[in-house]
Amino acid sequence: MGSLVIKMRKALISSIITRCNEGGNSMSKLKVRFAPSPTGPLHIGGARSALFNYLAAAHDGGEMVLRIEDTDLERSKREYEDEIIKSLRWLGLEWSEGIDVGGDNGPYRQTERLDIYQQYIDKLLKSGQAYYCFCTEAELEAERQELLSRGELPRYLGKCRSLTGEECETRIKQGEKPVVRFRVPENRVYTVNDLVRGQVNFESSNIGDFIIAKSDGIPTYNFAVVIDDNLMGITDVIRAEEHLSNTPRQLMIYEALGFDTPRFAHISLILGEDHQKMSKRHGATSLMAYREMGYLPEAMFNFLALMGWSPEGEEQILSPEQIIQAFTLDRVSKSPAVFDLDKLNWINQQYLKQKTSGELLDLLKSFIEQGPYAEPFFSLDAAKRNILVEAVRDYLVGLTDITKYLELFFAPPQYEGEALEVLQHEGVKPMLEAFAEQAQDFENPDQAKQVIKAFIKQNGLKPKDVYMPLRSALTGNIHGPELNSLLCIWGKEECRNRINRALSLR
Ligand code: GLU
Repeated sequence: MGSLVIKMRKALISSIITRCNEGGNSMSKLKVRFAPSPTGPLHIGGARSALFNYLAAAHDGGEMVLRIEDTDLERSKREYEDEIIKSLRWLGLEWSEGIDVGGDNGPYRQTERLDIYQQYIDKLLKSGQAYYCFCTEAELEAERQELLSRGELPRYLGKCRSLTGEECETRIKQGEKPVVRFRVPENRVYTVNDLVRGQVNFESSNIGDFIIAKSDGIPTYNFAVVIDDNLMGITDVIRAEEHLSNTPRQLMIYEALGFDTPRFAHISLILGEDHQKMSKRHGATSLMAYREMGYLPEAMFNFLALMGWSPEGEEQILSPEQIIQAFTLDRVSKSPAVFDLDKLNWINQQYLKQKTSGELLDLLKSFIEQGPYAEPFFSLDAAKRNILVEAVRDYLVGLTDITKYLELFFAPPQYEGEALEVLQHEGVKPMLEAFAEQAQDFENPDQAKQVIKAFIKQNGLKPKDVYMPLRSALTGNIHGPELNSLLCIWGKEECRNRINRALSLR
């Protein structure tokens, strides 16, 4: 992390220099936020948004805030909040301000900021830019149906727009609980100069007066997000494309309150391999499910960064530092990103290859402990564990694959197909019998290799007459990890038992 901090500092200095050259008051550094709603675990799309925010800030030497948007009281849960934080940390993200680290602009949970929102709601009510609305669900639904039947966009037509202050007061005193609606300016075009999507225009006539506070006083997302982004000094709002249509509403609030607007960047959807919106149908959608499947956080970091962003060169395996250095929003694609599992698998394998056996063993430990071969594996001495891990490392796509390979070492072999055929070949039986005689407790794979070599020579055989039949007899398979290592793990007894088992089949 030390070198990351130095690099981030260097990036900050160089960005200050560039910004000075640009002139104007653009000296303020980038400040972004990730603002999840804790209504479920962190999914792949959310993780990618968080990562892009982190990368944009780190590239610029800027800051990131983690804010919890929990105004949906029914669906928000503290355990999801904890899980989201855990997921972000697992991915390797850091933030300088936010829910769990504090900061000058807290609280960072929206339900703890209700009094702040209320001040701004009151301000808009007072200036007439917002008003109380007493329409019932049934009335609103009837209006919706009416507009739909006329082929018009469903929107609020403003029935309560001109209620007087006294009328409202009386109705509130009588126990009615109004919502607060924002008075949408008429005949205006709101333009989002999106850093990813370019200029996008929205006509205010298509947007009805929207609710900014519900009848229980809780603000809506479109309102709270503006207050928070402003008070927290956010310069760049980087979020999922699905929020683009909310942005004109937010621009109206910025305008009404006289706030400066931040820059916006809406990043595209993530699609499954069939080019449909990614959902459970495409496999796991939560980030933690990938951890459970044995993907490494650095592989996920690399993979997610490449989902919608591309560096200049061809290199696909990039360290966080390299990604931070290269990451700019102008290289983020407008078109949807496709979740390519083969690519993730390949990236994960590249990271696994870089691990020392000790590191790999540490990573595999919990997966082995949860599996059925913990007992025989942990009974091996340290040297043998290393031999085993080295023998299978190139076969692992995810860490969970270890169970499949441990089965090869520790479960009785099942003979079928090609292995069974190989065992029927002429000369195999005497060869196996002779080998069983010579089996030893090998110290290391090299010793096993020398003994097999000598055995081939002594008996005037060809390597192919020995390796394939021996592997078939010992494992029930014609492919797999290096035989020398397998022999080493089993030792003489187990090797003989397996050969006898194969011989008894014939
Ligand atoms: N709370 C919103 C969500 O989880 C985030 C919206 C935003 O980033 O503005 O989708």
